[in-house]
Amino acid sequence: MRRILIGLLGALALAAPAAAAPDLSKMGAAELAVFMKAFPKGGELHNHLGGGTPAELILDWAVEDKLCVDTLELAIRFTCAGEGVKPAAEVLANEALRSALMDSLTTRHPGFRDRSGHDQFFTAFSRRGTSPGRNGDALAETLNGLARQNTFYAELMVTPQFVASRQIGAKAGWQGDAARTKAAIAAAGIDKLVPAVVADTDALEKRARDLMKCGTAEAQPGCQVTARFLFQAMRQGPPEQTMAQLQLGVATIAADKRWVGLQLVAPEDGVEAVKYYDTHMKIVAELTDRGRKVPVALHAGELTLKLVTPQAMSYHVRDAVRVAGARRIGHGTALPEEVGAADTAREMAARGVLIEANLISNSVILEVPPEQHPYAWFRKMGVPVALSTDDSGISRSELSGDYAYAVRNGATYDDLKTAARNALAFSFLPGDGLWADPNVYRKPTAACAGQIGNPEPKGGCADLVRKSDKAREQWRHEKLLRAFEAGF
Ligand SMILES: [Zn+2]
Repeated sequence: MRRILIGLLGALALAAPAAAAPDLSKMGAAELAVFMKAFPKGGELHNHLGGGTPAELILDWAVEDKLCVDTLELAIRFTCAGEGVKPAAEVLANEALRSALMDSLTTRHPGFRDRSGHDQFFTAFSRRGTSPGRNGDALAETLNGLARQNTFYAELMVTPQFVASRQIGAKAGWQGDAARTKAAIAAAGIDKLVPAVVADTDALEKRARDLMKCGTAEAQPGCQVTARFLFQAMRQGPPEQTMAQLQLGVATIAADKRWVGLQLVAPEDGVEAVKYYDTHMKIVAELTDRGRKVPVALHAGELTLKLVTPQAMSYHVRDAVRVAGARRIGHGTALPEEVGAADTAREMAARGVLIEANLISNSVILEVPPEQHPYAWFRKMGVPVALSTDDSGISRSELSGDYAYAVRNGATYDDLKTAARNALAFSFLPGDGLWADPNVYRKPTAACAGQIGNPEPKGGCADLVRKSDKAREQWRHEKLLRAFEAGF
Protein backbone atom coordinates (compact mmCIF):
# COMPACT_ATOMS: atom_id res chain seq x y z
CA MET A 1 0.00 0.00 0.00
CA ARG A 2 2.76 2.39 1.03
CA ARG A 3 4.67 1.63 -2.16
CA ILE A 4 1.56 2.27 -4.26
CA LEU A 5 0.99 5.56 -2.47
CA ILE A 6 4.57 6.66 -3.12
CA GLY A 7 4.15 5.63 -6.75
CA LEU A 8 0.96 7.65 -7.03
CA LEU A 9 2.55 10.69 -5.41
CA GLY A 10 5.48 10.39 -7.79
CA ALA A 11 3.16 10.30 -10.80
CA LEU A 12 1.26 13.31 -9.47
CA ALA A 13 4.52 15.24 -8.99
CA LEU A 14 5.53 14.45 -12.57
CA ALA A 15 2.16 15.51 -13.89
CA ALA A 16 2.03 18.74 -11.85
CA PRO A 17 2.57 21.88 -13.90
CA ALA A 18 5.81 23.78 -13.29
CA ALA A 19 5.53 26.26 -10.42
CA ALA A 20 4.41 29.70 -11.56
CA ALA A 21 7.17 32.23 -12.15
CA PRO A 22 7.48 34.53 -9.14
CA ASP A 23 5.93 37.99 -9.34
CA LEU A 24 8.99 40.17 -8.84
CA SER A 25 6.93 43.37 -8.64
CA LYS A 26 5.44 42.15 -5.36
CA MET A 27 8.82 41.53 -3.73
CA GLY A 28 10.24 43.98 -1.22
CA ALA A 29 13.79 45.25 -1.62
CA ALA A 30 15.34 42.62 0.64
CA GLU A 31 13.49 39.70 -0.94
CA LEU A 32 14.41 40.95 -4.41
CA ALA A 33 18.08 41.35 -3.44
CA VAL A 34 18.24 37.77 -2.15
CA PHE A 35 16.46 36.49 -5.24
CA MET A 36 18.64 38.36 -7.75
CA LYS A 37 21.91 37.43 -6.08
CA ALA A 38 21.10 33.75 -6.49
CA PHE A 39 19.44 34.02 -9.91
CA PRO A 40 21.84 32.73 -12.62
CA LYS A 41 22.51 35.76 -14.81
CA GLY A 42 24.29 34.02 -17.67
CA GLY A 43 27.07 36.48 -18.26
CA GLU A 44 28.29 40.04 -18.16
CA LEU A 45 28.85 41.49 -21.64
CA HIS A 46 29.60 45.12 -20.78
CA ASN A 47 32.24 45.52 -18.10
CA HIS A 48 35.31 47.75 -18.33
CA LEU A 49 38.06 45.98 -16.42
CA GLY A 50 39.51 49.40 -15.46
CA GLY A 51 36.27 50.47 -13.76
CA GLY A 52 35.30 47.26 -12.03
CA THR A 53 37.53 47.46 -8.97
CA PRO A 54 36.24 48.78 -5.63
CA ALA A 55 38.12 51.88 -4.44
CA GLU A 56 39.23 50.13 -1.24
CA LEU A 57 41.31 47.70 -3.32
CA ILE A 58 42.79 50.51 -5.41
CA LEU A 59 44.02 52.15 -2.23
CA ASP A 60 45.38 48.83 -0.89
CA TRP A 61 47.32 48.31 -4.13
CA ALA A 62 48.65 51.89 -3.96
CA VAL A 63 49.97 51.17 -0.45
CA GLU A 64 51.60 47.88 -1.56
CA ASP A 65 53.07 49.49 -4.69
CA LYS A 66 54.32 52.51 -2.68
CA LEU A 67 52.29 55.01 -4.69
CA CYS A 68 51.13 58.38 -3.36
CA VAL A 69 47.92 60.34 -3.12
CA ASP A 70 47.41 63.94 -4.16
CA THR A 71 45.30 64.97 -1.17
CA LEU A 72 44.13 68.19 -2.89
CA GLU A 73 42.86 66.49 -6.06
CA LEU A 74 42.09 63.27 -4.13
CA ALA A 75 43.84 61.16 -6.77
CA ILE A 76 46.37 58.31 -6.75
CA ARG A 77 49.72 59.44 -8.19
CA PHE A 78 52.78 57.53 -9.37
CA THR A 79 55.14 60.27 -8.15
CA CYS A 80 55.31 61.57 -4.61
CA ALA A 81 56.52 65.11 -5.26
CA GLY A 82 54.34 68.20 -4.98
CA GLU A 83 52.16 70.09 -2.55
CA GLY A 84 49.73 67.93 -0.61
CA VAL A 85 51.05 64.66 -2.06
CA LYS A 86 51.36 61.98 0.63
CA PRO A 87 52.26 58.28 0.68
CA ALA A 88 49.15 56.13 0.16
CA ALA A 89 49.85 54.40 3.49
CA GLU A 90 49.30 57.72 5.32
CA VAL A 91 45.94 58.17 3.61
CA LEU A 92 44.89 54.64 4.54
CA ALA A 93 45.67 55.46 8.18
CA ASN A 94 43.71 58.74 8.15
CA GLU A 95 39.99 57.93 8.18
CA ALA A 96 38.78 61.37 7.02
CA LEU A 97 41.21 61.43 4.11
CA ARG A 98 40.52 57.81 3.24
CA SER A 99 36.79 58.44 3.13
CA ALA A 100 37.26 61.52 0.92
CA LEU A 101 39.43 59.46 -1.45
CA MET A 102 36.71 56.77 -1.64
CA ASP A 103 34.26 59.55 -2.61
CA SER A 104 36.69 60.78 -5.25
CA LEU A 105 37.29 57.37 -6.86
CA THR A 106 33.59 56.46 -7.07
CA THR A 107 30.14 57.97 -7.65
CA ARG A 108 28.92 57.06 -4.16
CA HIS A 109 28.67 60.70 -3.02
CA PRO A 110 26.21 62.55 -5.31
CA GLY A 111 27.33 66.09 -6.08
CA PHE A 112 30.85 65.44 -4.79
CA ARG A 113 32.92 68.57 -5.44
CA ASP A 114 29.91 69.97 -7.28
CA ARG A 115 30.41 67.59 -10.21
CA SER A 116 27.54 66.05 -12.16
CA GLY A 117 27.29 62.25 -12.12
CA HIS A 118 28.66 62.25 -15.68
CA ASP A 119 31.70 64.36 -14.82
CA GLN A 120 32.41 62.57 -11.55
CA PHE A 121 32.23 59.23 -13.34
CA PHE A 122 34.42 59.99 -16.35
CA THR A 123 37.03 61.98 -14.43
CA ALA A 124 37.30 59.20 -11.79
CA PHE A 125 39.36 57.05 -14.19
CA SER A 126 42.26 59.49 -14.13
CA ARG A 127 42.23 59.47 -10.30
CA ARG A 128 42.17 55.68 -9.99
CA GLY A 129 45.91 55.16 -10.65
CA THR A 130 47.04 51.54 -10.59
CA SER A 131 50.44 50.04 -11.36
CA PRO A 132 50.81 48.06 -14.58
CA GLY A 133 50.30 44.44 -13.67
CA ARG A 134 47.34 45.12 -11.38
CA ASN A 135 45.07 44.23 -14.30
CA GLY A 136 45.36 40.63 -13.16
CA ASP A 137 44.25 41.62 -9.66
CA ALA A 138 41.28 43.46 -11.17
CA LEU A 139 40.39 40.40 -13.23
CA ALA A 140 40.47 38.11 -10.17
CA GLU A 141 38.24 40.55 -8.26
CA THR A 142 35.72 40.73 -11.11
CA LEU A 143 35.57 36.97 -11.72
CA ASN A 144 35.15 36.16 -8.02
CA GLY A 145 32.40 38.78 -7.85
CA LEU A 146 30.49 37.22 -10.74
CA ALA A 147 30.84 33.71 -9.32
CA ARG A 148 29.44 34.96 -5.98
CA GLN A 149 26.37 36.00 -8.00
CA ASN A 150 25.95 32.63 -9.72
CA THR A 151 27.23 33.99 -13.06
CA PHE A 152 30.05 32.31 -14.96
CA TYR A 153 30.79 34.13 -18.21
CA ALA A 154 32.30 37.56 -18.82
CA GLU A 155 33.49 39.63 -21.77
CA LEU A 156 35.78 42.26 -20.31
CA MET A 157 36.88 45.42 -22.07
CA VAL A 158 40.64 45.96 -21.93
CA THR A 159 43.02 48.37 -23.72
CA PRO A 160 46.32 46.61 -24.48
CA GLN A 161 49.37 48.33 -25.99
CA PHE A 162 47.63 51.70 -25.85
CA VAL A 163 50.65 53.97 -26.32
CA ALA A 164 52.49 51.78 -28.85
CA SER A 165 49.43 51.29 -31.05
CA ARG A 166 48.52 54.98 -31.07
CA GLN A 167 52.12 55.92 -31.90
CA ILE A 168 51.87 53.71 -34.98
CA GLY A 169 48.64 55.47 -35.93
CA ALA A 170 50.32 58.85 -35.50
CA LYS A 171 53.21 57.73 -37.69
CA ALA A 172 50.88 56.50 -40.42
CA GLY A 173 48.75 59.67 -40.37
CA TRP A 174 45.26 60.10 -41.85
CA GLN A 175 45.40 59.31 -45.56
CA GLY A 176 42.10 60.83 -46.65
CA ASP A 177 39.89 57.77 -46.11
CA ALA A 178 39.68 54.63 -43.99
CA ALA A 179 40.94 52.20 -46.67
CA ARG A 180 44.11 54.16 -47.41
CA THR A 181 44.75 54.81 -43.72
CA LYS A 182 44.38 51.09 -43.02
CA ALA A 183 47.12 50.37 -45.56
CA ALA A 184 49.39 53.03 -44.02
CA ILE A 185 48.87 51.63 -40.51
CA ALA A 186 49.64 48.13 -41.79
CA ALA A 187 52.80 49.43 -43.50
CA ALA A 188 53.83 51.14 -40.25
CA GLY A 189 53.90 47.68 -38.61
CA ILE A 190 50.79 47.44 -36.43
CA ASP A 191 50.74 43.62 -36.63
CA LYS A 192 54.16 43.50 -34.96
CA LEU A 193 52.45 44.45 -31.68
CA VAL A 194 50.29 41.28 -31.60
CA PRO A 195 52.90 39.15 -29.74
CA ALA A 196 53.10 41.87 -27.07
CA VAL A 197 49.31 41.79 -26.64
CA VAL A 198 49.38 37.98 -26.35
CA ALA A 199 52.16 38.22 -23.74
CA ASP A 200 50.18 40.89 -21.81
CA THR A 201 47.14 38.60 -21.88
CA ASP A 202 49.18 35.63 -20.65
CA ALA A 203 50.50 37.73 -17.76
CA LEU A 204 47.02 39.08 -16.97
CA GLU A 205 45.49 35.61 -16.81
CA LYS A 206 48.39 34.08 -14.91
CA ARG A 207 48.26 36.78 -12.24
CA ALA A 208 44.49 36.36 -11.85
CA ARG A 209 44.72 32.56 -11.68
CA ASP A 210 47.57 32.72 -9.16
CA LEU A 211 45.60 35.11 -6.95
CA MET A 212 42.49 32.91 -7.18
CA LYS A 213 44.63 29.80 -6.48
CA CYS A 214 43.14 28.08 -9.51
CA GLY A 215 44.09 24.44 -9.92
CA THR A 216 44.67 23.99 -6.17
CA ALA A 217 42.49 22.65 -3.36
CA GLU A 218 41.82 26.27 -2.25
CA ALA A 219 40.67 27.42 -5.70
CA GLN A 220 38.39 30.45 -5.40
CA PRO A 221 34.97 30.53 -7.13
CA GLY A 222 36.20 32.92 -9.83
CA CYS A 223 38.28 30.08 -11.31
CA GLN A 224 34.98 28.69 -12.63
CA VAL A 225 34.20 31.82 -14.64
CA THR A 226 35.07 31.84 -18.36
CA ALA A 227 36.67 35.16 -19.27
CA ARG A 228 36.98 36.56 -22.79
CA PHE A 229 38.23 39.99 -23.79
CA LEU A 230 37.00 42.84 -25.97
CA PHE A 231 39.66 45.07 -27.46
CA GLN A 232 38.66 48.62 -26.60
CA ALA A 233 39.89 51.65 -28.50
CA MET A 234 39.50 55.27 -27.40
CA ARG A 235 37.29 57.52 -29.50
CA GLN A 236 39.37 60.54 -28.44
CA GLY A 237 42.30 62.03 -30.35
CA PRO A 238 43.04 61.91 -34.08
CA PRO A 239 41.04 59.19 -35.89
CA GLU A 240 44.14 57.48 -37.28
CA GLN A 241 45.20 56.72 -33.69
CA THR A 242 41.80 55.29 -32.83
CA MET A 243 41.99 53.28 -36.05
CA ALA A 244 45.45 51.90 -35.21
CA GLN A 245 44.07 50.60 -31.90
CA LEU A 246 41.12 48.96 -33.63
CA GLN A 247 43.39 47.52 -36.34
CA LEU A 248 45.56 45.94 -33.64
CA GLY A 249 42.36 44.57 -32.14
CA VAL A 250 41.40 42.91 -35.43
CA ALA A 251 44.86 41.33 -35.75
CA THR A 252 44.76 40.17 -32.12
CA ILE A 253 41.32 38.57 -32.47
CA ALA A 254 42.63 36.60 -35.49
CA ALA A 255 45.63 35.38 -33.47
CA ASP A 256 44.27 34.68 -29.98
CA LYS A 257 40.90 33.08 -29.19
CA ARG A 258 40.71 34.80 -25.80
CA TRP A 259 40.00 38.04 -27.71
CA VAL A 260 36.53 37.92 -29.21
CA GLY A 261 35.50 41.41 -30.33
CA LEU A 262 36.07 45.15 -30.61
CA GLN A 263 34.69 48.09 -28.64
CA LEU A 264 34.95 51.85 -28.95
CA VAL A 265 34.94 53.72 -25.65
CA ALA A 266 35.39 57.07 -23.82
CA PRO A 267 32.61 59.66 -23.36
CA GLU A 268 30.47 59.64 -26.51
CA ASP A 269 29.68 63.30 -25.90
CA GLY A 270 33.37 64.37 -25.93
CA VAL A 271 34.33 66.99 -28.52
CA GLU A 272 36.35 64.59 -30.69
CA ALA A 273 33.95 61.70 -30.15
CA VAL A 274 31.16 63.83 -31.65
CA LYS A 275 33.33 65.40 -34.34
CA TYR A 276 34.71 62.09 -35.59
CA TYR A 277 31.66 59.89 -34.97
CA ASP A 278 30.95 59.38 -38.69
CA THR A 279 34.63 58.73 -39.42
CA HIS A 280 34.78 56.19 -36.59
CA MET A 281 31.78 54.31 -38.03
CA LYS A 282 33.49 54.17 -41.45
CA ILE A 283 36.72 52.97 -39.81
CA VAL A 284 34.93 50.13 -38.05
CA ALA A 285 33.08 49.20 -41.26
CA GLU A 286 36.36 49.11 -43.20
CA LEU A 287 38.26 47.05 -40.61
CA THR A 288 35.54 44.50 -39.93
CA ASP A 289 33.73 44.34 -43.28
CA ARG A 290 30.68 45.86 -41.53
CA GLY A 291 30.90 43.40 -38.67
CA ARG A 292 30.94 40.34 -40.93
CA LYS A 293 34.62 39.55 -40.40
CA VAL A 294 35.04 40.56 -36.76
CA PRO A 295 32.39 40.88 -34.03
CA VAL A 296 31.91 44.46 -32.91
CA ALA A 297 30.07 45.96 -29.95
CA LEU A 298 29.89 49.75 -29.88
CA HIS A 299 28.97 52.25 -27.22
CA ALA A 300 26.24 54.29 -28.89
CA GLY A 301 23.39 56.37 -27.57
CA GLU A 302 24.93 56.84 -24.11
CA LEU A 303 23.62 60.36 -24.41
CA THR A 304 21.00 62.85 -23.30
CA LEU A 305 20.25 66.38 -24.41
CA LYS A 306 22.17 67.62 -21.36
CA LEU A 307 25.31 66.27 -23.02
CA VAL A 308 25.02 66.83 -26.78
CA THR A 309 23.05 68.78 -29.37
CA PRO A 310 19.79 67.38 -30.78
CA GLN A 311 21.62 66.72 -34.06
CA ALA A 312 24.26 64.53 -32.36
CA MET A 313 21.49 62.76 -30.45
CA SER A 314 19.63 61.93 -33.64
CA TYR A 315 21.56 59.03 -35.22
CA HIS A 316 24.41 57.39 -33.25
CA VAL A 317 22.73 54.02 -32.63
CA ARG A 318 21.33 53.91 -36.17
CA ASP A 319 24.76 54.41 -37.74
CA ALA A 320 26.52 52.05 -35.33
CA VAL A 321 24.12 49.38 -36.63
CA ARG A 322 23.78 50.36 -40.29
CA VAL A 323 27.18 51.85 -41.14
CA ALA A 324 29.59 50.13 -38.76
CA GLY A 325 27.76 46.79 -38.57
CA ALA A 326 27.76 46.55 -34.76
CA ARG A 327 26.29 43.27 -33.50
CA ARG A 328 25.75 44.78 -30.06
CA ILE A 329 25.10 48.31 -28.84
CA GLY A 330 26.45 49.44 -25.50
CA HIS A 331 23.71 51.46 -23.75
CA GLY A 332 21.45 52.59 -26.62
CA THR A 333 19.66 54.75 -24.05
CA ALA A 334 19.12 57.61 -26.52
CA LEU A 335 17.67 55.44 -29.30
CA PRO A 336 14.04 56.56 -28.70
CA GLU A 337 15.19 60.16 -29.36
CA GLU A 338 16.74 59.30 -32.74
CA VAL A 339 15.28 59.99 -36.15
CA GLY A 340 13.63 56.79 -37.38
CA ALA A 341 14.02 55.13 -33.97
CA ALA A 342 11.23 52.61 -34.54
CA ASP A 343 12.74 51.53 -37.87
CA THR A 344 16.16 51.10 -36.25
CA ALA A 345 14.61 49.09 -33.42
CA ARG A 346 12.73 46.86 -35.88
CA GLU A 347 15.94 46.32 -37.84
CA MET A 348 17.81 45.42 -34.64
CA ALA A 349 15.07 42.96 -33.72
CA ALA A 350 15.14 41.38 -37.18
CA ARG A 351 18.93 41.17 -37.43
CA GLY A 352 19.47 40.19 -33.80
CA VAL A 353 21.46 43.26 -32.73
CA LEU A 354 21.50 43.30 -28.94
CA ILE A 355 21.40 46.22 -26.52
CA GLU A 356 23.71 45.97 -23.53
CA ALA A 357 21.54 47.87 -21.04
CA ASN A 358 23.34 49.34 -18.02
CA LEU A 359 20.57 50.58 -15.76
CA ILE A 360 22.58 51.62 -12.72
CA SER A 361 25.27 53.26 -14.83
CA ASN A 362 22.62 55.16 -16.79
CA SER A 363 20.91 56.32 -13.61
CA VAL A 364 24.19 57.77 -12.30
CA ILE A 365 25.89 59.08 -15.47
CA LEU A 366 22.90 60.03 -17.61
CA GLU A 367 20.48 60.68 -14.73
CA VAL A 368 17.93 58.38 -16.40
CA PRO A 369 16.09 56.56 -13.59
CA PRO A 370 15.21 52.90 -14.22
CA GLU A 371 11.49 53.75 -14.46
CA GLN A 372 12.26 55.95 -17.52
CA HIS A 373 14.84 53.69 -19.16
CA PRO A 374 13.94 52.51 -22.68
CA TYR A 375 14.47 48.84 -21.73
CA ALA A 376 10.66 48.47 -21.56
CA TRP A 377 10.33 49.83 -25.11
CA PHE A 378 13.16 47.58 -26.36
CA ARG A 379 11.25 44.58 -25.00
CA LYS A 380 8.06 45.76 -26.68
CA MET A 381 9.90 46.19 -30.01
CA GLY A 382 11.54 42.75 -29.76
CA VAL A 383 15.06 44.17 -29.53
CA PRO A 384 17.26 41.68 -27.67
CA VAL A 385 18.62 43.07 -24.38
CA ALA A 386 21.20 41.83 -21.89
CA LEU A 387 21.88 43.54 -18.57
CA SER A 388 25.35 44.55 -17.44
CA THR A 389 27.16 46.77 -14.94
CA ASP A 390 29.47 48.95 -17.10
CA ASP A 391 31.84 49.99 -14.24
CA SER A 392 30.70 48.41 -11.03
CA GLY A 393 33.74 49.57 -9.02
CA ILE A 394 32.99 53.22 -9.72
CA SER A 395 29.22 52.95 -9.38
CA ARG A 396 29.64 50.64 -6.34
CA SER A 397 27.13 48.15 -7.66
CA GLU A 398 26.86 44.50 -8.66
CA LEU A 399 25.21 42.79 -11.62
CA SER A 400 22.41 41.53 -9.37
CA GLY A 401 21.64 45.19 -8.59
CA ASP A 402 21.11 45.90 -12.29
CA TYR A 403 18.67 42.98 -12.41
CA ALA A 404 16.82 44.39 -9.39
CA TYR A 405 16.68 47.83 -11.08
CA ALA A 406 15.14 46.16 -14.15
CA VAL A 407 12.10 45.24 -12.04
CA ARG A 408 11.54 48.98 -11.49
CA ASN A 409 11.45 49.18 -15.31
CA GLY A 410 8.59 46.68 -15.36
CA ALA A 411 10.64 43.61 -16.26
CA THR A 412 9.06 40.31 -15.24
CA TYR A 413 10.82 37.13 -14.23
CA ASP A 414 10.51 35.85 -17.81
CA ASP A 415 12.05 39.06 -19.15
CA LEU A 416 15.03 38.64 -16.84
CA LYS A 417 15.37 34.97 -17.75
CA THR A 418 15.56 36.10 -21.39
CA ALA A 419 18.12 38.81 -20.54
CA ALA A 420 20.33 36.24 -18.81
CA ARG A 421 20.07 33.79 -21.73
CA ASN A 422 20.80 36.66 -24.13
CA ALA A 423 24.09 37.30 -22.33
CA LEU A 424 25.27 33.95 -23.71
CA ALA A 425 23.35 33.64 -26.99
CA PHE A 426 24.59 37.10 -28.09
CA SER A 427 28.06 36.68 -26.62
CA PHE A 428 30.94 36.69 -29.10
CA LEU A 429 31.86 33.13 -28.19
CA PRO A 430 32.39 31.03 -31.32
CA GLY A 431 30.28 28.03 -32.23
CA ASP A 432 26.60 27.24 -32.63
CA GLY A 433 24.32 27.82 -29.68
CA LEU A 434 21.78 25.59 -27.93
CA TRP A 435 18.81 27.63 -29.17
CA ALA A 436 17.31 27.97 -32.65
CA ASP A 437 15.40 31.10 -31.55
CA PRO A 438 17.62 33.45 -29.51
CA ASN A 439 15.68 36.10 -27.55
CA VAL A 440 12.61 33.81 -27.59
CA TYR A 441 13.93 30.50 -26.20
CA ARG A 442 11.09 28.18 -27.02
CA LYS A 443 12.94 26.10 -29.60
CA PRO A 444 16.17 24.28 -28.80
CA THR A 445 18.47 23.49 -31.68
CA ALA A 446 17.50 20.08 -33.17
CA ALA A 447 20.43 18.17 -31.63
CA CYS A 448 19.44 19.26 -28.10
CA ALA A 449 15.63 19.02 -28.33
CA GLY A 450 14.19 17.70 -25.06
CA GLN A 451 17.57 17.80 -23.30
CA ILE A 452 18.08 21.39 -22.15
CA GLY A 453 18.46 21.56 -18.37
CA ASN A 454 19.37 17.86 -18.07
CA PRO A 455 22.43 16.94 -16.01
CA GLU A 456 24.43 15.74 -19.05
CA PRO A 457 23.97 16.17 -22.82
CA LYS A 458 23.59 13.02 -24.92
CA GLY A 459 24.19 12.07 -28.56
CA GLY A 460 24.43 14.96 -31.03
CA CYS A 461 23.86 17.45 -28.23
CA ALA A 462 26.93 16.12 -26.39
CA ASP A 463 28.92 16.63 -29.61
CA LEU A 464 27.66 20.21 -29.91
CA VAL A 465 28.48 21.03 -26.28
CA ARG A 466 31.95 19.54 -26.68
CA LYS A 467 32.74 21.39 -29.89
CA SER A 468 31.08 24.77 -29.37
CA ASP A 469 32.30 27.25 -26.74
CA LYS A 470 28.94 28.99 -26.84
CA ALA A 471 26.90 25.79 -26.41
CA ARG A 472 29.12 24.71 -23.53
CA GLU A 473 28.48 27.93 -21.58
CA GLN A 474 24.77 27.79 -22.40
CA TRP A 475 24.56 24.19 -21.19
CA ARG A 476 26.11 25.19 -17.87
CA HIS A 477 23.71 28.12 -17.54
CA GLU A 478 20.63 25.99 -18.25
CA LYS A 479 21.66 23.53 -15.54
CA LEU A 480 22.04 26.39 -13.06
CA LEU A 481 18.67 27.76 -14.12
CA ARG A 482 16.97 24.37 -13.70
CA ALA A 483 18.44 24.10 -10.18
CA PHE A 484 17.40 27.67 -9.32
CA GLU A 485 13.83 27.17 -10.54
CA ALA A 486 13.52 23.93 -8.60
CA GLY A 487 13.48 26.15 -5.51
CA PHE A 488 10.23 27.95 -6.48
ZN1 LIG B 1 30.71 51.24 -21.03
